Amino acid sequence: MQVRHILQTKTQKGILTIKPEDTISNAAGILSEKRIGALIVSNNGKSVDGILSERDIVREIGKNGVGCMSDCVSKYMTKTVVACGPNDKVILLMSKMSEGRFRHMPVVDNGELIGVVSIGDVVKARIESIEQENAALTDMIHGNV
Ligand code: AMP
Repeated sequence: MQVRHILQTKTQKGILTIKPEDTISNAAGILSEKRIGALIVSNNGKSVDGILSERDIVREIGKNGVGCMSDCVSKYMTKTVVACGPNDKVILLMSKMSEGRFRHMPVVDNGELIGVVSIGDVVKARIESIEQENAALTDMIHGNV
């Protein structure tokens, strides 16, 4: 299974991004309202200029308190973002996410942001793919093919 298959099944249409100069308070509001764990930081909605996850906000609040709420997103985002392409295999994403210890990945095609995949999407896709394989093997064993 490839990343584009996951994007096709995602119910949330449109890609949520935030600008580097936006505030952490605004970012936290979007994360909470949209029930997501990370936002792609983009100057124009197409480039991936960073990623800001709920962890980045919680880490800062835990260290220094809520003073960061009026600071810019760019101060706390991760600037070196690991991205994937629509034709990448889902199994490759799993290893990249577990190696990098993060749960979100922007999908980039021809240098343009086309989606975001979370660890939840990846696990769901893997389970579905394993279930399909299982059903096909069971059919073969019972001579239904
Ligand atoms: P997450 O597990 O996705 O909530 O993120 C954990 C940490 O990794 C945070 O500091 C994020 O900014 C960072 N992060 C999340 N996704 C990526 C990614 N695709 N590439 C690089 N860093 C990331």
